[in-house]
Amino acid sequence: NDFVILVRANEAANPFIRALERAEIPYQFLASRGLYAKPVILDIISYFKVLDNYNEDGALFRILNFPFLKIPAEEIMRITHYSRFKAKSIYEALESVSLISGLSRQTVANINFLLGMIKKHTNLAREKSVSEVLISFLKDSGYLKYLSDREEARDLDLINQFYKKVKRFEDSALEPSLRNFLQELLMEIESGEQGQLEFDPEAGPEVVKIMTIHSAKGLEFKYVFLVNMVDKRFPVIERREQIEIPQELIKEIIPKGDVHIQEERRLCYVAMTRAKKGLFFTSAQDYGGARKKKLSRFLVEMGFAKEPRKEENKSANLEIIKRKPEGKKIINIEKMPGMPEHFSFSQLAAFKKCPLQYKFAHILKVPVKGKVNFSFGKTMHNVLYRFVKLSIEGRETGQKGLFSNSKKEKEQNSIISFKELLKIYDQEWLDEWYQDKRQKEEYYKTGKKILKDFYERFSKNPPNVLSINGRPALEIPFKLKLGNDLLIGRIDRIDSLEGGAKIIDYKTGSFKEKLENKEQLLIYQIAAEKVFKIEPKELSYYYLEEGKEVSFLGSQKEKERQIEAILAEIEKIKKGDFTPTPGWQCKFCDFKDICEYRSNR
Ligand code: SF4
Repeated sequence: NDFVILVRANEAANPFIRALERAEIPYQFLASRGLYAKPVILDIISYFKVLDNYNEDGALFRILNFPFLKIPAEEIMRITHYSRFKAKSIYEALESVSLISGLSRQTVANINFLLGMIKKHTNLAREKSVSEVLISFLKDSGYLKYLSDREEARDLDLINQFYKKVKRFEDSALEPSLRNFLQELLMEIESGEQGQLEFDPEAGPEVVKIMTIHSAKGLEFKYVFLVNMVDKRFPVIERREQIEIPQELIKEIIPKGDVHIQEERRLCYVAMTRAKKGLFFTSAQDYGGARKKKLSRFLVEMGFAKEPRKEENKSANLEIIKRKPEGKKIINIEKMPGMPEHFSFSQLAAFKKCPLQYKFAHILKVPVKGKVNFSFGKTMHNVLYRFVKLSIEGRETGQKGLFSNSKKEKEQNSIISFKELLKIYDQEWLDEWYQDKRQKEEYYKTGKKILKDFYERFSKNPPNVLSINGRPALEIPFKLKLGNDLLIGRIDRIDSLEGGAKIIDYKTGSFKEKLENKEQLLIYQIAAEKVFKIEPKELSYYYLEEGKEVSFLGSQKEKERQIEAILAEIEKIKKGDFTPTPGWQCKFCDFKDICEYRSNR
């Protein structure tokens, strides 16, 4: 990770990729665009196209070639031949699969499976969101299992990125149907948009990074290689706007001089300042083509052109190309999922339940269908956060309590009205992953009841929320350093108690009289002491539906044991031992459909 090769444009990376491959030096090309052209995303787009229009032959042809469908190439040819011969679309040909000669029984079964799935998802697309169709396709088709079995971490990451794009569309579109999503996406692609690619330059194993200067903004490396420092490659030739805007319509003041060169020079400066220890410029006279390349004007300006360039020995170059260092093994970065940089309670809980479940969720990041209780839990947490915060702010400014007499009265009066609270509820309501309208209405009603009870208790006895760094201690994030590792989390609320504090964790699940699991609050207690330097006197799980609390306080011994247990678990994760522990938990596991070890107990 100490070395980066910076290129001016994506295409310029190719010779360096090939050279590193020849030299068997592990590398990673971090392109900032090109999501829509990734094979796994093309597969999804093709499937969406077919759902929208069964006669999309090109898209259906791609689907027939999905490796997990295992349809031999020769049999695909028989299908396409039949469709051409009979002047039918491929879909129509598949519908009469029994009439196509030379197909194996397995292929016929696979095609029937595919047709059934397409029909099922067409119906699903009429009622459910695009993201639900996407997840169902990945699961039902076996695509997720295929990628997870092969530990294709990069592909799974790309699916997650595409999933986020779908969610953004759903949040902003007036009519978030699959057809509208597809139309918007295809329009984007047609206009030249390639889809933004997210990447984490710190993630993954130690390898040489290759990236564009634009995507390196804000990053630093020990050694930077700024390559292709020749005329027309850096600075690049100015490209004229495809549609030129008449001068009269431009309102801004256009900078004087050669704007393009100024911009390129700024970019060169950005590239140079990425280096912490060493900066290397490279250039060649021969990049193909008849003419020798001239040195970049930026290097000339920096005084690098004083010495005449030595004539390069082409045969020596060829020698370098042929030679391979011995004994080095190339690392396939795409296959090496990165370890998380930090851990959280939920991650550790998943690992404890089943290490393989942890791997699916946090290392391979296999996309999963959301859960109703997560949507509902998130809604309630967001509403309570806003409500308590607004109440505190109202209390501080004394908005409604100006004419009240006692402090208590002032506090009570300053709480926002229940009607306003319901307005917040509607604003924060997450409409996702409910099975049907009825289930959604039931949850909505439960939420309303929770808020009514919470509001009454809160009005009668307003809590004294602690202030940390000038902010109310609500949804307060922490980073707890344990040895060399970082444990992150978020505490729902910390109230001030006499001589200390009370840590509260809201629960939307069913009430448990007996304290079954102290771990989460114990971690919060340790974080409160070590990170916020406060002294908790009480830790409490607050069950919202029943309005009941279960409280305790961790002893010194319990805290020490908890830290030991966390460190031991992190150590196991780092060793990469994800041996599955099938059991009752498989029934509730998000990955049971793709896990070959699942237990049917
Ligand atoms: S299905 Fe069972 S064995 Fe497989 S990952 Fe989930 S919990 Fe582990």
